[in-house]
Amino acid sequence: MIEMQDVWKTYPNGTHALRGVSVQIDRNEFVYVVGPSGAGKSTFMKLIYREEVPTKGQISVNGFNIGRLKPRKIPYVRRNIGVIFQDFRLLPKLTAYENVAFALEVIEAPKKVIKKRVMEVLDLVGLKNKANRDPSQLSGGEQQRVAIARAIVNNPSVIIADEPTGNLDPETSWGIMQLLDEINFRGTTIVMATHNKDIVNSMRKRVIAIEHGHIVRDEQRGEYGYDF
Ligand code: ADP
Ligand code: ADP
Repeated sequence: MIEMQDVWKTYPNGTHALRGVSVQIDRNEFVYVVGPSGAGKSTFMKLIYREEVPTKGQISVNGFNIGRLKPRKIPYVRRNIGVIFQDFRLLPKLTAYENVAFALEVIEAPKKVIKKRVMEVLDLVGLKNKANRDPSQLSGGEQQRVAIARAIVNNPSVIIADEPTGNLDPETSWGIMQLLDEINFRGTTIVMATHNKDIVNSMRKRVIAIEHGHIVRDEQRGEYGYDF
């Protein structure tokens, strides 16, 4: 479902962030992306959700060659990919409900459909009773749950999570991981960059390690493999 063939990414300032990456990620996999800071992990993720385009090589997601997408097809492809960030990125002036509904309003779903679906996903993340709170009235873990609800509300085939537990304490992080595991179990592919050694070594999944723009390790049920 995600395939990269000899992908290079050179930023305009000349930094080679990825140097010939080839990889295949199948439907329903759960993949950790690990490696030192500056190794190219975020770039790898950004290429999948088409925040960046490759300088060279090919990337296909769900059969679309996303490096060469016609502009009118971009929103369609993006809708099939949910993204979660370390810093949550909720809209501060909107309630939890509105933050999640937003993703459906832009595709002009009927109000009744939106309400049913938003409450369904808020229930799934355990926040049905906090739907009317602003982000500032929620804990970090709760904000990340809203972000996850927003990411899954369109029923995407893939979730890209860039250090989703990076701002959370260990106990809250485990709650978020259980939720992501449940979402994966229900059929969504998950690609997650992380520096959380405990999580990677306990919840064993495929591990892709990136160093200096190269994939240096790719193991099923792998280990974190670093001391940082
Ligand atoms: P990681 O997520 O592993 O920390 P990144 O993908 O963010 O790595 O960065 C890989 C390399 O690309 C680093 O050297 C970083 O400084 C550089 N880089 C990232 N984004 C940009 C950008 N927009 N412009 C220039 N260089 C960048
Ligand atoms: P169903 O197959 O009847 O949808 P599920 O138990 O799989 O039953 O899902 C319950 C609800 O959660 C459904 O409304 C579904 O839309 C939603 N849901 C299930 N899986 C996901 C997922 N990966 N991402 C977002 N929502 C999901």
